[in-house]
Amino acid sequence: MTFKTLDDASLAGQRALVRVDFNVPMADGQVTDDTRLRAALPTIDKIRKAGGKVVLLAHFDRPKGKRVPSMSLKPVVGPLEKLLGAPVVFADDCIGEDAAKVVAGLKDGDVALLENLRFHAGEEANDADFAKALAANGDLYVNDAFSAAHRAHASTEGLAHVLPAYAGESMRRELDALDAALGNPQRPVLGVVGGSKVSTKLELIRNLILKLDRLAIGGGMANTFLFAQGYDVAASYCEKDLADTAKSILDFAAQNDCELLLPIDIVVAEKIEPGGAARVRDLGQLDEHERILDAGPKTVARLTSAMDASKTLIWNGPLGVFETPPFDAGTTAAAKHAAALAKAGKLVAVAGGGDTVAALHHAGVADDFTFVSTAGGAFLEWMEGKTLPGVAALER
Ligand code: ADP
Ligand code: MG
Repeated sequence: MTFKTLDDASLAGQRALVRVDFNVPMADGQVTDDTRLRAALPTIDKIRKAGGKVVLLAHFDRPKGKRVPSMSLKPVVGPLEKLLGAPVVFADDCIGEDAAKVVAGLKDGDVALLENLRFHAGEEANDADFAKALAANGDLYVNDAFSAAHRAHASTEGLAHVLPAYAGESMRRELDALDAALGNPQRPVLGVVGGSKVSTKLELIRNLILKLDRLAIGGGMANTFLFAQGYDVAASYCEKDLADTAKSILDFAAQNDCELLLPIDIVVAEKIEPGGAARVRDLGQLDEHERILDAGPKTVARLTSAMDASKTLIWNGPLGVFETPPFDAGTTAAAKHAAALAKAGKLVAVAGGGDTVAALHHAGVADDFTFVSTAGGAFLEWMEGKTLPGVAALER
């Protein structure tokens, strides 16, 4: 995969249309978490320093092609100005006269933010005329929103066909990390897939089996595999109708030389409650009302030795109900081990997924991982081996 980056662009005096992800958490018109704003800073700074004009394009929420005042991007301006230490001019529309006037007033190094793209139906429809109307305000296009790259929208895909297209700094970092984890990883490469359901991660598991040397399966989805192998799972969460699918995955892994690591012991309790009595059991040894809520210590120890024996780790999905301690123990121990190896330069450790990111923060180790993707759906589709239209459009 090759794509042009900002290093390939001549930016001085140019209007750069920069697609960012500013779909930030907001409460009462206030930004409550500025992680996504921070993620855009390297690209904005780089263009400004090179003497370019930054025209930011973003969506917020789901206005479905209509102007919904409560879904304006205006509340983002203040926090962004603070982070940048520079003014940000806001345009009340992303196309037409409002946008044209604001962009025409920009001097080299200035920054503008245009109103919510999704106020126009043409955005999600990837309408060619809408893409042209956006392109009227730019000399080049920079996509810095990996998290929106699984959608073929006008600002994530269409624009790349109208203007010279470049990957922004965050996009480049994400693509490099994903390439190091799954595209061209250093071997042996180990995967960890957990979470609640097998059903939502079938394609992902199949793709990982094709690419990895070893794959550990944990979380609620492991119960379905244990059930398929004939173990009693008592009151555990389990997709029993997927037992045959689980068996076919076991075969698929054997055919493709991917060693599957299923749980060898379990942590059980009757209820998911904080501080609940957690018992370590052998497989299948549960009372009628008990549920499997975490990986057992032997399972975790085998996983951490597999990490020691690997050069690369790709992780999606917690090993247990980490939101409710003590059922966070397995996930936290494994996360700490991976983070320590990554920090010591012994393991490329890449993780992603909404709950996975939360679990790594809960364990206090997110910063020690090589890369943690907050891209959600785009990250999962990429793990499934799908072509992301927003990334494909950037390829030279
Ligand atoms: P991600 O968002 O990282 O892709 P998922 O959404 O697939 O992860 O799964 C996360 C959820 O899986 C968490 O809410 C966690 O409580 C749940 N989970 C993990 N292990 C179990 C288990 N043994 N039983 C029930 N739920 C589980
Ligand atoms: Mg989730």
